[in-house]
Amino acid sequence: MNIKNLLLGNITLEELLNYYNASIKYIDCIYKEIRGFVDYYRGYYIIYINSNMSYYKKKKTILHELAHIERNHLCQADNDLFAFCIDKYEDEASKYLTRLKQEIVLIENV
Ligand SMILES: [Zn+2]
Repeated sequence: MNIKNLLLGNITLEELLNYYNASIKYIDCIYKEIRGFVDYYRGYYIIYINSNMSYYKKKKTILHELAHIERNHLCQADNDLFAFCIDKYEDEASKYLTRLKQEIVLIENV
C-alpha cells in the first residue's frame, strides 16, 4: 500500500490515508505560498491543505505531503533538526514523486 498504488488507481486516497493513520484537514489560509504541511503526533498524521487553491493544486499538494509521510521525513528528525533539513526534504519529496510518475509511465507503456 503506497502512493504508487494510488497513482495507478489500485487503491483510493481514503485507503491510503487509513493505512498511514492520516487525515486531511482543509485550512482557510490567505497565504498562497502555503500549500500544505504535515504534522505528526503519537503515530498519527494530519495533512493540512490550504483550501484557497484549485482542485488540481490541492490534489498535487496532498500527494506531496503523502510523499513526506511515505519517505518517513517526519520521524527522522526532531523539530530543531527538521527546520534545518527542510530544503533537503522538500527536494527529496518532489524527486520521489517524479520518480514514481516516471515508473508508472514505464509500466503503462509495457
Ligand atoms: Zn513539503
